[in-house]
Formats: sequence, C-alpha cells, structure tokens
Amino acid sequence: MDVTNIAGFPGLQTIAAREAVLLAPCAMRSIDSRGRKYPESEHPYRGPFQRDRDRVVHSSAYRRLSGKMQVFTGDMGDYHRTRMTHTHEVASIARTIGRALRLNEDLIEALALFHDIGHPPFGHAGESALNECLADCGGFSHNRYALTIAEELEVRYQSFPGLNLTHEALESQASRIDKRPTGPAPLLEAQVVDVADNVTYDAHDTDDSVKLELVTLDELAEIPLIREVIGRVHQRFGVLRGELLRKAVVHELIDCQVTDLLQTAGRVLAQRRFESAEEARNSGYRIAASAKLAEQKAELERFLYQRVYRHPRLVEVRRRAQQRLQAMFQGYCRRPALLPPEYRNRAEMIGIRRTAVEYLAGMTDRYCVQQFELHFAGTDDA
Ligand code: MG
Repeated sequence: MDVTNIAGFPGLQTIAAREAVLLAPCAMRSIDSRGRKYPESEHPYRGPFQRDRDRVVHSSAYRRLSGKMQVFTGDMGDYHRTRMTHTHEVASIARTIGRALRLNEDLIEALALFHDIGHPPFGHAGESALNECLADCGGFSHNRYALTIAEELEVRYQSFPGLNLTHEALESQASRIDKRPTGPAPLLEAQVVDVADNVTYDAHDTDDSVKLELVTLDELAEIPLIREVIGRVHQRFGVLRGELLRKAVVHELIDCQVTDLLQTAGRVLAQRRFESAEEARNSGYRIAASAKLAEQKAELERFLYQRVYRHPRLVEVRRRAQQRLQAMFQGYCRRPALLPPEYRNRAEMIGIRRTAVEYLAGMTDRYCVQQFELHFAGTDDA
C-alpha cells in the first residue's frame, strides 16, 4: 500500500520520512530497528514502535493494571493513583521530555506503557513476598516478569507466543532489571522513561499522601524542594489554600523537575552532538537531573519513605498482603489442581514454584483477595 496516498489523501508521510524531519540524530529511528524475534511484514502506516505500543495496550496484563495498587490500596479511596494511572502519567511526562529532546516518542510511549506491566498485586510488598518465595532459585522481579509476559504468557497470535515486540522494546525493558551502569547505556528513549517514572512517583506520592491525610502540606514544607515549590505557587497565584494549593503544588513539582531535566540533558546533548543512537549509548552519558535537584529529590524521597511508605496504615496493608501471597504460594504448590489448565501445563516446563508465583503475579489486588478467601482462608496454608 502506498501510504503517501491512502484513499486519495495525499498528506500522509512514511514513518521514515516523518522521523527524518522530526528526530534528533541521537534518537532511535524506526527504520534502524533490529526487528522482532518472529519476523513480520511491515504495517502500511504504523511504525514498529507504534505497533509495540498498541500490542501493549491491547494485552490483558496491561488492562489488569487498573486493578493493581501503586502505593495505596483500593479500600483507602477512589482518588489516588493505581498502577494504570501511574503508567499513564509516566507516558505523558516521558513524551513531553522526549518531544522536547526530539527523541522517538512512539518508542517512549511503548516503553512507558510497558514498564510496569509485570507488577504483581499489592505493589512492592507483593513483589518482595513473591521474591522471597523464590529466594533459593533466582527470585522474582517485576521488571523481568514484564519480559516473561511479553515473550511467553500473552496469547495473541497463532504462530508464536507473546506479543513479539521489537528488539528495542525488549532490550530497553531488560535494562530496567539491573540498573548498575555496565556496558552500553540503554537507548535515550529508555532513559527518558526511567527518569519520567521517578518524576512521576515523587510528584504523585506527594499528592496522594496529602489527599489521604497521611501528611499535611505544612509538614511537607519542612523539605526545601516543597518549600520552594509552595513559594513559587504563591508568587504566581497569590495565597492558595487546601485542595487548590495541593493541586498547584503537584503541578509545579512536575514542571520544575521536567524543566530541570530538559535544561540539564539539553545542555549535554547540544554540546556532545551524538551522531546516532548507538553513539549516545556508547558515550557513557546518562540522562539525569541536576545535582541540586537530585539532592532535593533525595530529601523528598527520604521523607516519603519515613512518613508515608512506613505509615502504620500502609505497614498493616503490606503485612496482610505478604502473608496472603505466601499462603497462596504454598497452597498452589501443594494443590496445583487449583491452577488454570494453561498454568498446570506451564508447571511441567518451569516447575510448580515459579508457575505459582507467575500466576499470583498476574492477579489484580481484588482477584487475589477473592482467590485467597475462596481457597485458602482458614486452611493450613493460611
Ligand atoms: Mg513505574
């Protein structure tokens, strides 16, 4: 099909022509993709990374993100972030950064929507419980499990398993498993998603913790970053209070972090003028906030860790979730007949223990509680 003239409409460009105009030399170009494990013909008007994004969006693991908690559980209210809304905020912020730096937005969006797809129920508490279950045989990591989902578990096509994402999408996700800086850096697009993830959770965990009344804005103002942000909000809008102040603070908190990243990264990219994505990867350069902002963010994160993530209400939620997951793990190992048929088959290939963990990791919070109540509450496993 000639994409430059679909249905007589002459305005469409090929992906390559569009990217040639829009992208910086250091961006990953669709035309340079190393393709997919199972070769497929090109789509007439969607580039390879657009197709990756669509495959993620249409996967069942992605849809289940709406039933998985980020930091706060569903019984704490309906207004705070879920794993799904977190994912969307990351995609939105990452695309803003990527567009300003003239990187490949399609790849950025695909990576952002993909990045947390392997998260188990009950957030990091769920992850550490499942990791303990497999402590003697490789452990469990949500970042690695995202690859298992994409390469093995999702069922979409008749002729091959998984989503058959591009090499670049899989490799970028793999770089999240072990972030120690060895070998070539991840693509700049993957680095943008990583920093956007950090911008996003610092801002929305601040927002949610005030909204849920775990801390007050006055308490948060002990931290220089938040104090400065509140000062700028008051300068711009006059004295705000309550909900309006909280919302303005979160807006400014995102804005100041993104601006800092763009100034810091923009300066380096302008100086070093990488000629290709490959050259940028091999240069050792990593996109990062300025030293001043990095220190201020570390202070905010320490505050959130001590005052929010370790808040008694959350500690109790985590303790119950971990007990439940460990009991369910024991239960499924003892009674594999409780697993759906496809997981019983998988157990024959990879063993019952990892299969039980994978099955648990796929559950939403609510389904996990339901299954616990149905099969394990009041049994020896519980
Ligand atoms: Mg994330």
